[in-house]
Amino acid sequence: MQKPEFLTDFTVISPSAQIDPARHGWRAKCLQRLVRLELPVPETVALPASTVRAIAAGQMVDCAGILGHFGDVPLVSVRPSPENPDWGGPATILNVGFNTARHDHLARTHGQAAADALYLRFVQGYAIHVARLDPDTFEGLEPNATGLREALRSFQQEMDEPFPEDPARQLADVLRSMSRAWEGTTARLLRQAKGAPSEAALGLVVQKMAQGIGQGISGSGVIQFADPITGDPKVKGRYLGQSQGRDALTKGDAIYLTRDPRGASLEELAPEVFAELIRHGAACRGRLREEMQIEFTIEDGRLSVLDAVKVQRSARAGLKIAVALAKDGIITQSEAVLRVEPRALSELLHPQVDPRGPRDVFARGIAASPGAATGRIVFSSQAAQASASRGEPCILVRRETAPEDIRGMHSAVAVLTERGGMTSHAAVIGRGLGLPCIVGASDIRLDAKDRRLVTRDGRVFNEGDIITIDGTTGEALVGAAEMLPPAQDGAFRQLLAWADEVRDIGIRANADTPADAQTARDFSAEGIGLCRTEHMFFDEDRLVVMREMIFADTSTDRAAALARLLPMQRADFGQLFEIMRGLPVCIRLFDPPLHEFLPHSREGLRELAEALDRPLSEVTRRAEALAEFNPMLGMRGVRLGIVLPEIYDMQARAIFEATVETVRAGDPVVPEIMIPLVSARREVELVKTRIDALAAAVRTKSGVSFDYRLGVMVETPRAALRAGEIAQHASFLSFGTNDLTQMTYGLSRDDAGRFMNTYVQEGVFPEDPFHILDVDGVGELLLIGAERGRKTREKLTLSICGEHGGNPESIAFCRNAGFDYVSCSPYRVPQARLAAAHLALTEPKG
Ligand code: PEP
Ligand code: MG
Repeated sequence: MQKPEFLTDFTVISPSAQIDPARHGWRAKCLQRLVRLELPVPETVALPASTVRAIAAGQMVDCAGILGHFGDVPLVSVRPSPENPDWGGPATILNVGFNTARHDHLARTHGQAAADALYLRFVQGYAIHVARLDPDTFEGLEPNATGLREALRSFQQEMDEPFPEDPARQLADVLRSMSRAWEGTTARLLRQAKGAPSEAALGLVVQKMAQGIGQGISGSGVIQFADPITGDPKVKGRYLGQSQGRDALTKGDAIYLTRDPRGASLEELAPEVFAELIRHGAACRGRLREEMQIEFTIEDGRLSVLDAVKVQRSARAGLKIAVALAKDGIITQSEAVLRVEPRALSELLHPQVDPRGPRDVFARGIAASPGAATGRIVFSSQAAQASASRGEPCILVRRETAPEDIRGMHSAVAVLTERGGMTSHAAVIGRGLGLPCIVGASDIRLDAKDRRLVTRDGRVFNEGDIITIDGTTGEALVGAAEMLPPAQDGAFRQLLAWADEVRDIGIRANADTPADAQTARDFSAEGIGLCRTEHMFFDEDRLVVMREMIFADTSTDRAAALARLLPMQRADFGQLFEIMRGLPVCIRLFDPPLHEFLPHSREGLRELAEALDRPLSEVTRRAEALAEFNPMLGMRGVRLGIVLPEIYDMQARAIFEATVETVRAGDPVVPEIMIPLVSARREVELVKTRIDALAAAVRTKSGVSFDYRLGVMVETPRAALRAGEIAQHASFLSFGTNDLTQMTYGLSRDDAGRFMNTYVQEGVFPEDPFHILDVDGVGELLLIGAERGRKTREKLTLSICGEHGGNPESIAFCRNAGFDYVSCSPYRVPQARLAAAHLALTEPKG
């Protein structure tokens, strides 16, 4: 059989036509829904993806047949209709079919000026987008008879033929150029970046032009019913008389839609049309189950609805809109939960740079902790504290931060570091405190001595200069940027409450201080999964005692110094128990190497010698003796607990005494004690024996009976491999994936930032494994540890408490592996709750 000359697979959109979003695209489907709602949609024909693809390959559709649906003198627009609106597509072409006859006719009915302007616009669009002629030749022409003549002449000159008169020929050219534009490499890469599959197809819709130009009230505009930034119900948009397309959004003389003291409005100009639009908006929201932006045209007072697209929205608006739709019974609660991307929530927890304001970026780095803050630059923790005491918000700028910067970080409103990666000190603490933070901004140069920062392009910033840190994008901005406040409002809480109703894995928070614990509670964490106790020792009064303990010559002296820390620790834990009111609190025993508590500068060592009343030479020698070549693999964690057992003794006693006090106050508490950096069963045995003995002693002395749980932090590969025997002495295992990743890869978590970008770019790692859990390697260790541990102890509680704990991908992994909970920074708890709910809804457990 001979192949037909023209393709005939196209469909007039009617309420009953077979329009399929996978074939005809979302726009065609949406237009059919509008038709079904009896909105005044002009006649529209949909071309399926198969036809469009064939056109790109050189075939042609029956254009005369298509135009036959649009009357004797057809005038149409052509719009792209991919399966997903986010995938973009070639630009819409208006007024296809315009020619000399149409121009003459329009001059008679609408006046010469309108006819010239419209024809010129079509010729320009056609020349640039369809014939692909040089835009410079066609742009900037005056919209009058001279401009039109000029455009037609240039077209003929460039193309060696006059501008096409035949509407079917014009349509064929337009369809061919749009089909081919979709197949181009740039367009493909662009849409793939937005998540489109490589074989994503394009449909096209051909629609009768509604002119927007006429004697009576004529024009075009767009209207929507929710604010794109806040999501609040609000009529927004513009209308422009004698215009087409989306002109109203780009041209200055457009008028308001609703009555407005600042100027004219469509509501006053055409109250009936305005009321009709409001009705159509409500119908769209109710039946399309979405906030839509409607593109409309008025021709001599008659309204046409040309198109409707999902309202563009910020994360906060997306959440508000989803909750409002569910509350109005338009969508279900589960659907509302699924409509909000978990990662988008972080935008609601902190102030954000207003996307509508200007941005002068002077440095870029890793977006380590979201949110934004403005303050004066300080280059040291001391300066940060001084600034905070003056009530001046400040931004701590450091090469990198160390544990001794913790007070400076508490005093700052944001942090910027030159070095570091996603799990460097600044990043971890920044996220914990909810401080916006950028790390690894390697294109800045810090000159701490002269207290200045120099950018790659030579700009210099001094201490005291005002900057803004955008931790959401990883950009540092000059001056005070315009901000949006956080949005943890009723809608936020409502959505998370719906999420909790369906979620099936626990979410706890990593919290070191009472403030963290309060944040964790405010975000409805189900307990503390990791309290890093060492952070409690950096307060000035404790640091002195800590240093005395480190320099003690004998076990008795060490115990004496620790005895002074005991009441402070007891109070710390008592506060946490009180805030968490019966929820589990998992306290990790002391973890870092001791030298982290010693000063690093000569000046600091001199002050320490003075405080300890010892010669500087001795203090320096002892400090040097504590330094290690590889401190992260040295005497830290349980190793310290075994070599200097008095430290863990003091901490365990403080935990139990705080427990007694809490129980006496009438509150329930079952503390959990976790041993860090374990690699052998015997380590657990040794520590457990002492802790059990201490518990017994505190019980006997106080006469109060209490329970506690002892667990192990699995953060060395060996602990994962030997989890079977380790679980004999542990009632829970919590995977510390920061150290576990570091040790599995043999990759320093503090130095990886230097080459991580190259490694990811070169495809060595698909992602930064300190950021996204490496499910293949580290994940396998998690599975091995979980399986071997549970074989020994069926009811073994399993969890993850590394920085990965808050990531949706890690939560999915842990849920599949049968973990009981994940624990993450307090500010990531909302995201984790929502991500867990998504999993429960989309992948129900069998
Ligand atoms: C870990 O190693 O994953 C962990 C949670 O502990 P830290 O980050 O304190 O080393
Ligand atoms: Mg660790």
